[in-house]
Amino acid sequence: MRVLFCYAEDMDASARAALAIHAPSAELAYTGTSETAYWQAVNSRWNDEQDLMLIEQDIVIRADVVQSFLSCPKSWCVFPYAMPGYGLAESLGCTRFRKEAMAAVPVADIPGALMYPVRWTIPSATGQTLWAGVNESVTTRITTGCDTCSPTEICWRHLDWRVSGALREKGYKPHLHAPDVEHQHRRKQ
Ligand SMILES: [Zn+2]
Ligand SMILES: [Zn+2]
Repeated sequence: MRVLFCYAEDMDASARAALAIHAPSAELAYTGTSETAYWQAVNSRWNDEQDLMLIEQDIVIRADVVQSFLSCPKSWCVFPYAMPGYGLAESLGCTRFRKEAMAAVPVADIPGALMYPVRWTIPSATGQTLWAGVNESVTTRITTGCDTCSPTEICWRHLDWRVSGALREKGYKPHLHAPDVEHQHRRKQ
């Protein structure tokens, strides 16, 4: 399994430290060069050669995380995490795609994938993350007015939505692992 950690200037030090301990063979890619560098880093590794695990620069992994992905037979696996006021269960923050799933979703299909917003943000009324709030029946699709996204390019803000949409178009659903991983809430917007 290939492990990819993309980072920019606002990388979290604790996330980087946890990576060094728990996934020391991870590949580091600096993606602060452009809005689409994250997409290009994923694009070039989206193939049927090796399973791909992504860890984002503000996710603090634990000792069990990599092994949990290695030992799970599902195609699309995610450790969710809490953001202020909501949770993310389909982001790329701590995710593993089996090569079979990547083979089934041509990388060229990802920029045109449609996004399902309700599957993305799950507001929490209680302060706890409510994964059960994902509404699988929602079929409303949105497009983005983003100036960077195009038929071939995806900005870092929308990459997770597009990947999720492309997988769902092929019938895949995320398999959620527990417990949540820790997210350091410092990301630039
Ligand atoms: Zn799994
Ligand atoms: Zn965009």
